[in-house]
Amino acid sequence: MSPKTTPGLVRPEGACALVTGASKGIGAASALALAADGWPVAVHYGRDAAGAAATVAAIEAAGGRAVAIAGDVADPGAADAILSAAEAQLGPVLALVNNAGITDDGLAMQLEDDAFDRVIATNLNGPFRLTRRALGPMVRARHGRIVNVASIVGLRANAGQANYAASKAGLVGLTRTVAAEVARRGVTVNAVAPGFIATAMTHEIPEGQLGAIPARRPGSPEEVAACVAFLASDAAAYVTGSVLTVDGGLSA
Ligand code: NAP
Repeated sequence: MSPKTTPGLVRPEGACALVTGASKGIGAASALALAADGWPVAVHYGRDAAGAAATVAAIEAAGGRAVAIAGDVADPGAADAILSAAEAQLGPVLALVNNAGITDDGLAMQLEDDAFDRVIATNLNGPFRLTRRALGPMVRARHGRIVNVASIVGLRANAGQANYAASKAGLVGLTRTVAAEVARRGVTVNAVAPGFIATAMTHEIPEGQLGAIPARRPGSPEEVAACVAFLASDAAAYVTGSVLTVDGGLSA
C-alpha cells in the first residue's frame, strides 16, 4: 500500500484536534503545540472561559485556527455536545487529547465516596465517553489519534492519591485496550504519563520530592505537549497502545 492509502499514515485535509482542559497548564500547551503542527484546534474548558480565550488568542496570534468549547467532562451528556460543537465549527475531530483532570487527595482510609467518584468521573469516565464518541468518525476517515494524559501515579504508588491513581491506571488500561481494537483502522491510542509538571495542579512541589527526580527539576507543560504533539503526528503512525513517561527519570 502507498502512504496515501495505508490507514492512519497521512492526516486528511479539513480535520481538527480537540484538547480537553485547554484553558491552562498541559492542555493549553498541547493545544498550542498541535496548532503549530497545523491542526485547527477545539480548545475545550470547564469553568475558565478567560483561560480558554487566552489559549485561542495565542493560537490565532501564531497564525493558527481555534475555537473555545465549554463542557463538564464528568457530565454523561457532555461528550456528544463537545464533539458536535467542534465538528460544526472546525470539521471532523481526528485528534483527541483527553487532558482534563482533577485531584482530590486523601488517604484511602478517610477518602469520602464523593471524592472518589468525582475523580473517577472526571479522569476516567469522561475520557471513555469522549473516546467512544470520537471513534466513529476516526474509523470512517481511516485516521485518528487519541492521546490520553495519564500520570506516573497510574503506574506506581503515591500515598494519598488512591482515587487519582485508580483513575489514571484505568486510563492506561483503556488506552491499551482501545488501541488494540482500532489499530487496523488507522487509529492510534496512546498515553503520556507525566511526573511532576509545574502547573496550577501542582502549585507547590515539596523540596524532598524534587530531590527524588533524577533531573532535579519539575517538567514544563511544553515538555509534555511536545510528546502529545508527536503522538498526534503522522510520524507516530506505528506507535499505538504505548505509555510515554515524561518525568525527568522519576520512574526510571
Ligand atoms: P490544571 O492546570 O489544573 O488544568 C486542568 C484542566 O482540566 C483545566 O483546563 C480545567 O478546566 C480542566 N478540567 C478539570 N475538570 C474538568 C471538568 N470536570 N470538565 C471540564 N474540564 C475540566 O492541570 P494540569 O496540571 O495541566 O493537568 C492536566 C492533566 O495532566 C490532568 O489530567 C492531570 O491529571 C495530568 N497530570 C498532571 C501532572 C502535573 O504535575 N501537573 C502530572 C501528571 C498528570 P477549567 O480550569 O476551565 O475549569
